[in-house]
Amino acid sequence: MDRTTLKDYSVWFVTGSQHLYGPEALKQVAEDSKRIVESLNSDGKMPTRIITRQTVTTKDEITRTLREASAEETCIGVIAWMHTFSPAKMWISGLSQLTKPLLQLHTQLRSGIPWDSIDMDYMNLHQTAHGGREFGFIGSRLRMERKVVVGHWGDSDVLARIDAWMRAAGAFADSRALKVARIGDNMRQVAVTEGDKVEAERVFGYSVNGYGVGDLVAYVNAVSDHETERLIDEYRSSYRIGDGIEGGEGARRLRAAAKIEIGLRAFLAEGGFKAFTTTFEDLHGLEQLPGIAVQRLMAAGIGFGPEGDWKTAALVRAMKVMGAGLPAGTTLMEDYTYHFDAERSLVLGAHMLEICPSVSGGEISIEVHPLGIGGKDDPVRLVFDGAPGPAVNVSVIDVGARFRMVLNEVEAIDPPKNLPCLPVARVVWDPIPDLATAAAAWIYAGGAHHTGYSQAVNAEHVTDFASMAGIELIRIDASSTVESVKNELRWNELYYHVKSGI
Ligand code: MN
Repeated sequence: MDRTTLKDYSVWFVTGSQHLYGPEALKQVAEDSKRIVESLNSDGKMPTRIITRQTVTTKDEITRTLREASAEETCIGVIAWMHTFSPAKMWISGLSQLTKPLLQLHTQLRSGIPWDSIDMDYMNLHQTAHGGREFGFIGSRLRMERKVVVGHWGDSDVLARIDAWMRAAGAFADSRALKVARIGDNMRQVAVTEGDKVEAERVFGYSVNGYGVGDLVAYVNAVSDHETERLIDEYRSSYRIGDGIEGGEGARRLRAAAKIEIGLRAFLAEGGFKAFTTTFEDLHGLEQLPGIAVQRLMAAGIGFGPEGDWKTAALVRAMKVMGAGLPAGTTLMEDYTYHFDAERSLVLGAHMLEICPSVSGGEISIEVHPLGIGGKDDPVRLVFDGAPGPAVNVSVIDVGARFRMVLNEVEAIDPPKNLPCLPVARVVWDPIPDLATAAAAWIYAGGAHHTGYSQAVNAEHVTDFASMAGIELIRIDASSTVESVKNELRWNELYYHVKSGI
């Protein structure tokens, strides 16, 4: 199953009611539910298919349906709608056993009130306004993480909010099955790339296991010359030929890079890994640090973290799934260097090599340049400028016994000038609300230097994902001040400490 398409998944639409209104009303409720789902499924509006389940009217029906949703592998979440009133004690058992994300769609069949014809029959059928409150009470009483979306089901805002939740649910389902290969350990002495892999598996579901770089080298050494030449042809036809490619040394380095890519793909495919890490401190047997290989694997939907950063690898993978099928890209990123300026301070984001070309704004060139660290031969890399436009930077850190997600909304811009001497892919952005506030808030929150950067995924996707995982999210956006974030951090420390219990 290719989980980056989201199309293999489904979401169940469950409508709650009861027998108080008679069979005619229940028939109408079922028809109306079907109509809403058909509309949501039409024109490929939604990233996954929505399946109408029967209207549930008793505790037994509710429990059975939500148990089935929990057990069904392709079901990534449940949308619940209370067209009428559905007494919520009937929902306690089912909701307590539901293991999939829940969205309460607080909508109504008709958008407006038919003022001239409204009577008590209409009122008894269109009871969302209080039926949804009864259902909402039990969700709060059970302390359930869930998303509540209010508005008419035909409105674009409502559709966008459901779409975001579905994408997050797809990423969460993927995360629960994800295998992360950690090739080599993490960069020595680095703090933020460490963490509790057991707790990560409990919270996010993904498993992280270590491999020696020699395990990868065996795959690289097994690559045939024919395969290598074919991939080099693909490189040459896909990118502008830049510095260092032509000539004897260039050809040799290109061959080494292509072999690494083919070997890495085979290693990941055979192990079923959809995310991985490398580290420049452990490259024994590889001629160069994997650069173009990592870039192209990320473009294919694989998550990556450098220097052993497995949390970022899994995060990039989750963001790839959330953004599946959307035109803009997602990549590993690192806040690299600043442009302090009285008018508009900026960040230049890049990495040693490994930025995904899906965030490129134009021409991509393939180049070879020396790399000062790692002690290996000059690596092949793709060089480009990132596309302008709104984006997010997201980090997951282990704050000791639990995880925190940090998000900053940013505005990527075209680099103010050409960067003729910088031989790596890069993105320039203006953090929101401004660099001084955003960077200080980020640092107080403990956000990492590595991030998942995306123009496809927005704050709502990430908020929904954090909610599904039940972890803290610190969101730095236009409404943030340093003091507001510091206060939120203090309050959250207490909340999550109490929430986790013993
Ligand atoms: Mn790094």
